[in-house]
Amino acid sequence: MNNENKDVQIIPIEHASMVLKWGGKVIYVDPVGGAGAFTGQLAPDLILLTDIHPDHFDLKTLESVSKTKTDIIAAMPLAYLFPDTVAGTLYVMKNGQHTTKQGFKLEAVPMYNLPEKADSYHTKGRGNGYIVESKGKRVYISGDTSDTPEMENLKNIDIAFVCMNLPYTMSVEEAAKGVLAFKPKQVYPYHYRGTSGLSDINKFKELVNKGDPNIEVVLLNWYPKLLK
Ligand code: ZN
Repeated sequence: MNNENKDVQIIPIEHASMVLKWGGKVIYVDPVGGAGAFTGQLAPDLILLTDIHPDHFDLKTLESVSKTKTDIIAAMPLAYLFPDTVAGTLYVMKNGQHTTKQGFKLEAVPMYNLPEKADSYHTKGRGNGYIVESKGKRVYISGDTSDTPEMENLKNIDIAFVCMNLPYTMSVEEAAKGVLAFKPKQVYPYHYRGTSGLSDINKFKELVNKGDPNIEVVLLNWYPKLLK
């Protein structure tokens, strides 16, 4: 299992939740699962929140993990859901916006289901995927999305975290197609538990490498409670 990228250490917590250690800073992505899920982890300098659904946003977890020093980056609808019991500073980003926090350049990338429908799980404009950049290294976190034109047009991504679970996001075939379009150096399937169990991430790896053997597909255990 290779979760040691040269500069970025990747610690999957579960499903969409992860910890990134990068340049002396600690980033939490979509921390849920309660304080216990983050036992033994350093406190976050930065928290990225992609969406309102409970597999991405949980106030109790945020109350326990966020500290005064923490900058919290949230998708727009979350701005109205933050009581002052959560320590740290909240910054709201809309799709397409850029900012710099804790030394990282951040860009909010649209995440949404295709075809676009009013009753989709994820309508365009609500949630954010993110590009996080430091010293020229660029990490993409997809959030919950289909293979959108915005994903296919990403440039110079070193590490990509890409969702693949039905019916909420996309199939492994669609995810592979998206990845083959933007060609990250390294891709980590994440967020791959759907209504019929875990998606076939080995098949995703096979499809990506059949299309481009130079993309490194890294399979980590994102479901430690299911798979020991
Ligand atoms: Zn989700």
